[in-house]
Amino acid sequence: MNIILLGAPGAGKGTQASKIAAKYNLLHISTGDIFRANIKNGTEIGKLAKSYIDAGKLVPDEVTCKIVEDRLTWDDAKNGYMLDGFPRNLFQAKELDKFAKVDLCLNINVDEGLLMDRICGRRVCACGESYHITTLNGATTCAKCGGELYQRADDNPETVKSRLDTYNTQTAPLIDYYQKQGKLATVTSGEGSPDEVFAQIVKILK
Ligand code: AMP
Repeated sequence: MNIILLGAPGAGKGTQASKIAAKYNLLHISTGDIFRANIKNGTEIGKLAKSYIDAGKLVPDEVTCKIVEDRLTWDDAKNGYMLDGFPRNLFQAKELDKFAKVDLCLNINVDEGLLMDRICGRRVCACGESYHITTLNGATTCAKCGGELYQRADDNPETVKSRLDTYNTQTAPLIDYYQKQGKLATVTSGEGSPDEVFAQIVKILK
């Protein structure tokens, strides 16, 4: 099964994608993680992506689509995958349809008023775990792997404003795109705890 996870920044896509991937044995592919790894390693793609990510804008489609198309040819993608953060506009969705078969689009709906606080209070670990400062009780390391927690460079109010804008103008139209294809399932209360949201997703996947 090949699943797309849709939702605004801070909706919990990464958290849910990890949970779904683990339970259903699906490969988790996050374009944001791929870009961040490239930035860390100082690659050409990383250098290009950084300016867009810092501005809360989308990395150019040709670059992003090529990365995903290549990644889907790896053996570990053969048993199904979960795309987290791709596609992010109609062009990417149409490109994806040319090189992959999408079975389901899960749209995580979260009250927009909560997103800024969720993102700006987010602390992440290199292993993929993500936390909110209000539940960390001062801890600075990851409960799962012991790694040092840090704040993503683009998790600041100015960039988040731009990312939300980008989501509303470019990504939200995908809801309609997948609805028309009969592939959309909406997680209605994404405001819940990660486990509550995951329970809803499991129901949908049944
Ligand atoms: P994320 O980790 O999904 O929040 O993505 C972080 C940033 O990476 C986004 O704000 C974009 O700048 C960039 N990015 C991630 N996925 C895509 C994509 N599918 N298309 C273009 N840019 C992307």
